[in-house]
Amino acid sequence: MKNLPNVRVLDHPLAQEVLTTLRDKNTGQISFRKGLVKLGRLMGIEIARTMSCREVEVETPTGKIAKGILLVDAQNVMIVNVLRAAVPFVEGLLKVLPASRQSVVSAKRIEEGIAAPNFNFRIERSYSKISEIYPADTLIVADPMLASGSTLIAVIDEILKRYSPKRTIVACVIAAPLGIQRIVDRYPGIEIFTVAVDEGLNEHGYILPGLGDAGDRAFG
Ligand code: URA
Repeated sequence: MKNLPNVRVLDHPLAQEVLTTLRDKNTGQISFRKGLVKLGRLMGIEIARTMSCREVEVETPTGKIAKGILLVDAQNVMIVNVLRAAVPFVEGLLKVLPASRQSVVSAKRIEEGIAAPNFNFRIERSYSKISEIYPADTLIVADPMLASGSTLIAVIDEILKRYSPKRTIVACVIAAPLGIQRIVDRYPGIEIFTVAVDEGLNEHGYILPGLGDAGDRAFG
């Protein structure tokens, strides 16, 4: 993988510790979901760090004026949930970015036999409700696992053929080099925020070492 400036890895120890729990095969469904919520929150904090803000002044109870900031971009956010695993992750994002609007897409890759070496999965979309996205919006497409990129490309294609947000961010937990490369090649201005970049994919398109099937682990 080339050195990619548009990939931001959330290397905070708190995030890395939660990810370690998620990777552990002994972590059960409830703890797994709670971990995804925590990572969503930490990811939201990291995304907020990159948002533009405006200087403001407020009067404090001492009668003095204090300079501060208003996070302007946080008022214009659309988060797209890629079902299922994004649901707890988005719950965390919303704790930090509560003014966000939401859309939902159900996109499932059809896993038939061996996917290697092309990993071009057919994507089945059974439900899609994308609300209006405005030019001032930061679009956050949330999907914990960026593996081959097939699912996210299907989702982002559908959105960007209708809308032109100010920024488009893919928020994930683990990204594989192939998926990252496909996304940045197709959408040069896109930004990928992830907690880890893993080694690669197995022959069925699962991330290695990964954490298994995020949807199954979160919902059974
Ligand atoms: N989706 C998952 O849930 N896990 C992977 O490793 C790849 C895709």
